[in-house]
Parts: sequence; structure tokens; C-alpha cells
Amino acid sequence: MTTGILYIVATPIGNLNDITLRAIEVLKQVDVIAAEDTRHSKKLLDHYGIDTRLMAVHDHNEDDRIQSLLGLLQGGQSVALISDAGTPLISDPGFRVVRAMHQANVEVVSIPGPCAAIAALSIAGLPTDRFLFVGFLSAKQKARQGELENLLAETATLVFYESPKRILSTLEDVISVMGAGRVVSVVKEITKSFETVKTLPAAEALSWLQEDQHHTRGEFVLLVQGAEHKGSLVIDPKVMRALQMTAEYMPLKKACAVVSELTGIAKNALYDAALTQNKG
Ligand code: SAM
Repeated sequence: MTTGILYIVATPIGNLNDITLRAIEVLKQVDVIAAEDTRHSKKLLDHYGIDTRLMAVHDHNEDDRIQSLLGLLQGGQSVALISDAGTPLISDPGFRVVRAMHQANVEVVSIPGPCAAIAALSIAGLPTDRFLFVGFLSAKQKARQGELENLLAETATLVFYESPKRILSTLEDVISVMGAGRVVSVVKEITKSFETVKTLPAAEALSWLQEDQHHTRGEFVLLVQGAEHKGSLVIDPKVMRALQMTAEYMPLKKACAVVSELTGIAKNALYDAALTQNKG
């Protein structure tokens, strides 16, 4: 008996019309659709008259479901994996299933389509030649700031997913770690009625979010332009804070000399970093 195929099928991220002809065809033809939330996906499937059998596969049962999916596929049935929105496995379940299918020599086929990160990059007006998809930052502020500090020197455009609950605090953290002048793009409600893209220095983007409560509602992709100078020294934010405090008691040049003495970082590098931060 030939083994069935596992199809990874992208579904709309808002506008129900954003589904490919091939996705509809596959979802109709497979024996089982493995969905993150069967009730949620039922709306999309009903809309397209798809009545294929559904099975729930989400973060909490993914490992348990692997054996049943493997059983179906090795028994010659075909399966489509979908998530609540967009491309499965992209900040969504499915990675462990796909890895297990590769290990079991089951064919995995892509049915590509919407992905909020790629859609946001295509309209943000930030460089797209190199980007780093980060997904969701930590919900805890201290951990989130640490994650951002680790990305401070990254020159690629950074792509984050964020919830309406945390978009303001995350942008505030971007400002405190990366500077108020770092250009960001707030992209919300892609493919929906209130699709918006605002590409501005971070402080101005924050003001825009704060000026109207409607601005913080909806689904967000936050993009952050990469660090400017490839290879230039990026100084630890703790050192920059120490420099700032020292400069309150003496001229900046002298403060740089003192901090340089304590940390071993070149005086000029500290001076340049302080000027850049002040500009931001
Ligand atoms: N797998 C999905 C994809 O391919 O983009 C992402 C799933 S993730 C659980 C959901 C997050 O994606 C949301 O919290 C939001 O950050 C982002 N997102 C999804 N749909 C969006 C939309 N229409 N506009 C803006 N962001 C969206």
C-alpha cells in the first residue's frame, strides 16, 4: 500500500477570499483535516463547502496525535494540516508533526498561501533583503527586554508578532533598548477592513498608537529596522546607562574616559554611541 501524503495548507489571515484554488482542492480531497481548532476552522470549511473529517491537533496534544496521524498516513490515507490562520508552523503548531513525518519517510507537501510576517514585510517599506522572524517576544517585561538587548546589533529587519494587549509595552521596550529613533513599522489587521501600516521612528509610532484607542486594537506585526552599522561596536545597554549617569556629573568626554577606564571599551566608541543615543 502506498503511504499517504501530509499536506501543509495555508489558510486566510483575515479575508476569507485569500485561499488558493489548490488549497480548496486539497482540503476537499484529503481523508482528514488536522486543524488547530476544529470549531474555528469549521467556519472557513463551511464557507467553501468542505465537509472533510476533522481532527484536532494543537500545541497540547501534538505529540499524542503523531501516532494517529502516522497510522492514517501509513494506512494510505492523506491528511491536510491547517492552523487557525495563515501558514501552519509559523508561530503555530505543526513542527513536531512534520519532523516526525520526515523521520518516518512520509511525504510532506506544501500548499503555500498567506503568512502575516511575509505580508507585513511586503507593505512595510523596510529592507526585505535580510530579515529575522522572531515571532512572539516574552510576555514578561524583564525577559522581553533581555530578548531585545540580544537583538540590538542585528542588522536584518526584525519581525515580531504581537497581541493588542502588549503592543504598547513592547514598543516602549523597543524604545528603551534600541532608541527612540529606530525606525519601526506597525502593521495591523492585514487583509481586513482596518488594515493599516505606519512606518515611523519608534517614538512617533508609539504616539500614533497612544493617540486613539482604536489604534491598539486588532492583530499586529511589528517590524523593526535593523541596526545601522554592520560591524560597528554595539555597547551593552547597562554600560550605556552607566555612561548616562556618569555624564550627569561631568562633561560627556570625561564621562567616556571614566567608563572606558572601568570597562575597557574605547573612549571614542563610547562617545560615538552616546551621541547616536542622544540623537535618537
Ligand atoms: N501562522 C500565522 C501566520 O502565518 O502568520 C500566525 C499565527 S500567530 C498564532 C498569530 C499572530 O500573527 C497574531 O497575534 C498577529 O501577531 C499575527 N497576525 C495574524 N493575522 C494577522 C493579520 N491579519 N494582521 C496582522 N497580524 C496578523
